[in-house]
Amino acid sequence: MENNIDWSKLPFGYYPTDYNVRCTFRNGQWGPIEVSQSETINIHIAATSLHYGQEIFEGLKAFRGADGKIRIFRMRENAKRLQESARGLLMEPVPVEIFEEMCIKCVKLNERFVPPYESGASLYLRPLEIGITPRIGVKEADEYTFIIMCTPVGPYFPSGFGCTNICIMREFDRVAPQGTGRWKVGGNYAASLGAGHKAHELGYSAVLYLDPKEKKYLDECGPANFYAVKDGKYITPKSDSILPSITNMSLMQLAHDMGIEVEERHITVDELATVSEAAACGTAAVCSPIGRIDDLDTGIKYEIAKDGKPGPVTTALYNKLNGIRYGLEPDVHGWNTIIE
Ligand SMILES: *Cc1c(COP(=O)(O)O)cnc(C)c1O
Repeated sequence: MENNIDWSKLPFGYYPTDYNVRCTFRNGQWGPIEVSQSETINIHIAATSLHYGQEIFEGLKAFRGADGKIRIFRMRENAKRLQESARGLLMEPVPVEIFEEMCIKCVKLNERFVPPYESGASLYLRPLEIGITPRIGVKEADEYTFIIMCTPVGPYFPSGFGCTNICIMREFDRVAPQGTGRWKVGGNYAASLGAGHKAHELGYSAVLYLDPKEKKYLDECGPANFYAVKDGKYITPKSDSILPSITNMSLMQLAHDMGIEVEERHITVDELATVSEAAACGTAAVCSPIGRIDDLDTGIKYEIAKDGKPGPVTTALYNKLNGIRYGLEPDVHGWNTIIE
């Protein structure tokens, strides 16, 4: 069946596809992988995911390359990270093989929704795991459902790769110092909605959170990691409250390959005055370059991109990573899974 979707106009939103895939853990084991055409789930009203937030998720993309082949980017890393998140919330880790098989199945079943190469769009896969055992007392579930749904999403920069402004706000924290920030938990997003809303109202694309303990170091940039370029080095915060971004991990490798020194360390707020580039990074955008960072509490405005344009390191990394995802650049690290 063909589509008549205007791929280049797709937003980053939900667009229905034909199938999703599911697997349930019950009686101490994972059951068969099931294919569903339903967009809803039927769960108990007392399920732990609904009451006590036992919900974790992932996000990854499949791309149609210039050669027509479909590639899924670094899905094994997403599988491993979902397992870390599961352990963090006492949930049942999904075996890597089941995760990978389900990703491939989901892409194949929905192949007609994988956008053409020229559109710059992609198929976004959203795996999620929920506790489904009914509980009223606070305790982890015994049963879990793991689902992979997908939706085609448009290019992140429909009007071209460009900078946005962000802000620092001390009024809210996304996570606690030794809390759930290092895991991909739905509740972390719930905790960040208020701050994000306020930033958007003030005209910023995201909040640059500070470390929740001392409010001294840079942490994450909304739902993305943060990096900067200082004296030609790629610097990115290291902290227990940061979700380890697979995009950031990939950019660090590519920077290293390009001969750029990489430092994972604490970065103080004042250091922003000395960086030549800064960006948020994650699956959605790869790199989202930052023009200016306004500290709402001190009134200091850090002008990062003085000419308003993405810097050379960010541009090179962005092109390189996208090139690998679309099969234009050699995949020397074996990051792509090609769907046969
Ligand atoms: C998903 C996510 C990221 C980005 O991770 P990628 O694997 O690069 O997509 C960064 N920070 C948070 C809080 C996230 O949830």
